[in-house]
Amino acid sequence: MKYPKELNAYCPKCKHHTVHKAKLASKGKARHMAIGTRKHNRKLTGHGGKRAGKVPVKKQGVRQKVMLECQVCKKKQERIIGTRTKKKLEFNA
Ligand SMILES: [Zn+2]
Repeated sequence: MKYPKELNAYCPKCKHHTVHKAKLASKGKARHMAIGTRKHNRKLTGHGGKRAGKVPVKKQGVRQKVMLECQVCKKKQERIIGTRTKKKLEFNA
């Protein structure tokens, strides 16, 4: 999947379209107090193996996220592009 490095996009702070620089959005840090993480850790206590060992189901692709930075006010915003895919995102020169 290809995406332009610079594009014209709407900035909610400037309230009109400005030039934005696109970067790959990094995945956020896992919250250790989130309900899923706590459930997982509770299952791991005591004797017994892993909670999620071999998964027979096919893995689902992820939705690609792009971080757009306004070149006027430097405000950043995330944008999801396309549908679920396993392909890596590439930026045009
Ligand atoms: Zn702006």
